[in-house]
Amino acid sequence: MVVSGIDITIHKSARKTVSIFVERDGSVSARVPEKLEEEEIEEILKAKEYQIFKNLAEWTQLNQNAVEREYVNGQSFLYLGRNYRLRFVEDNIEGLQFIKNKFLINKEEKHRAKELFVKFYKNKLLTKIHPIIDQYKMQLGVEPKQIKIMELQNRWASCTSNGNVNFHWKCAMAPIDVLQYIVVHELAHLIHLNHTAEFWNEVDKILPNYESQMNWLKLNGAGMDL
Ligand SMILES: [Zn+2]
Repeated sequence: MVVSGIDITIHKSARKTVSIFVERDGSVSARVPEKLEEEEIEEILKAKEYQIFKNLAEWTQLNQNAVEREYVNGQSFLYLGRNYRLRFVEDNIEGLQFIKNKFLINKEEKHRAKELFVKFYKNKLLTKIHPIIDQYKMQLGVEPKQIKIMELQNRWASCTSNGNVNFHWKCAMAPIDVLQYIVVHELAHLIHLNHTAEFWNEVDKILPNYESQMNWLKLNGAGMDL
């Protein structure tokens, strides 16, 4: 459906309200109650025109931070919130090495550089995140069943109702305080499996400045693609 010149994909479901999203690729979609007629949907979306333009402007702003990374000498990669450069070397080194603030890969292994970065982030995150989890699970009084580092489409972390917690390996790109926030957020879900005021209150008790960490994720989330 085209509203005010914007192509909007409509998803109908058993919901009561209309909500509009700008997807990761910049396309716009709306979730609408299934009982609404086409004209009613169009009318509601027209009334939300200002909000749609505002969301699109925000999306554009955020995606200016998106970096198309290439596996070439001098390209920078994030690690714990800072950028470090990649160097292909002649030296016979094993996989990807992080030495003296540089990422080093043997030039013969250039074709699998991306794979080596993923492996690096996974290993580093595993060692960084466990002490953080141990610290905050005590404070929150929760006990995650299983902790996994994995590829999680568009999410930083997730948890299941039976107490498993998963973290995206990209969390290793975030500064430590942001990593702490991601951990506290997920562990707090073991108490409240939702985003109610009680949930945020739990996060706030442990990290009173969590909004600045949330902001970092918002601003940098788009710059983390490998
Ligand atoms: Zn959440």
